[in-house]
Amino acid sequence: MKAFEATRLFFNSAAELLDLDESLRESMLMPQREIQVQVSMRRDDGSLANFVGFRVQHDSSRGPMKGGLRYHPEVDLDETRSLASLMTWKTAVVNLPYGGAKGGIGVDPRSLSLPEVERLTRAFVDQIHDIVGPDTDIPAPDMGTDHRVMAWFRNQWEKYHGFNPAVITGKPVEEYGAKGREEATGRGVGSLTVKVAKRLGMKAEKTRVAIQGFGNVGSHAAKFLSEAQFPVIAVSDTTGTYYREEGLDINAVLHHTLRHSYGLLEGFAECEVLPVDALLSLPDVDVLIPAAVGGVITERNVDNISAKAIIEGANGPVHPMADHALHERGVTVLPDILANAGGVTVSYFEWVQNRQHYRWTLDRVRQELDRTLSEAFEHVWQTAQEKNVSLRTAAYMIGIARVRRASELAGMR
Ligand code: GLU
Repeated sequence: MKAFEATRLFFNSAAELLDLDESLRESMLMPQREIQVQVSMRRDDGSLANFVGFRVQHDSSRGPMKGGLRYHPEVDLDETRSLASLMTWKTAVVNLPYGGAKGGIGVDPRSLSLPEVERLTRAFVDQIHDIVGPDTDIPAPDMGTDHRVMAWFRNQWEKYHGFNPAVITGKPVEEYGAKGREEATGRGVGSLTVKVAKRLGMKAEKTRVAIQGFGNVGSHAAKFLSEAQFPVIAVSDTTGTYYREEGLDINAVLHHTLRHSYGLLEGFAECEVLPVDALLSLPDVDVLIPAAVGGVITERNVDNISAKAIIEGANGPVHPMADHALHERGVTVLPDILANAGGVTVSYFEWVQNRQHYRWTLDRVRQELDRTLSEAFEHVWQTAQEKNVSLRTAAYMIGIARVRRASELAGMR
């Protein structure tokens, strides 16, 4: 099943309970605008390399559209469309004054040098600068992009439109970025994991966590949870699963990845090393955090999952059929549109600071992040109880109802 079809199924289960008719559903699901561009760039050796770039602007009923830029070989229109629609429901669930968008380039950034990534980014901006802006569509980091890419993006965009750092978020802290933006997604995943564990009556010291993916999201979630006394017994990336029954020394793991040129776990030896896929089928896990690519938990492997709770650090990690099976089995799944919303929440804080020319302290960022996520979590948890639905369906119901209300008030739908 393709990514957008999966989000359509999730959307429909909630839309049915909200009594939305067929044409309204179609209008809410269909993106407002999709663009595909050619991105050509000179390699360091002088040859010409061509890539395909996308920006999907899904919905602007609640405000300027917001969402990351992904550089990954699997980026295509279908995936970008799915991720853009997730941003619409995500910003609505946490009640940020934004709509949803997403973009990216089908490229493996690890196959490029840093100057090549810079030229690629500038070439992409040349193609899409007219459709993004601080009041229309505000990009941010996602898989394969970081604060450096954001800085190049902003610099190139400003060549056309003049000074306005609010055009993009996730910038370097000393270049109009927000303190705490980099850690925000992982920190949010961690703090929401603590809340879920509490609701399920699980004690920190006895709650064994496994995290798939040790990039920006997975590593910060691991740090937060190990500081909160949760044993993180396994982490994985494309080089393998790193497992230690008594819990990994996360500081040692972080230290190791900082020294690796691509931030990989490869070579970390203070534990058992298992195959990449082993992480999802470890027998003694209480909380599983998929924090890598989408579509990893499917009908095929769902029966091997031992966890009582899944916290979706990644976007779209659980296939709809697997989601159904997990719900039947009583496994609590905290959906992506809430679980990983910490990133876009602090992006919003960055945008607010840029517009006010005012800087917040790290404490303030963390405090407001915790407050925003707590409120959204309470609302979703309560709705799920009241309506007797999964947390995912509850989150979609809240998000969809807010988008519907905004477009209704504006007389659009
Ligand atoms: N790429 C992140 C996400 O999927 C963050 C988006 C943003 O900060 O705008 O939520």
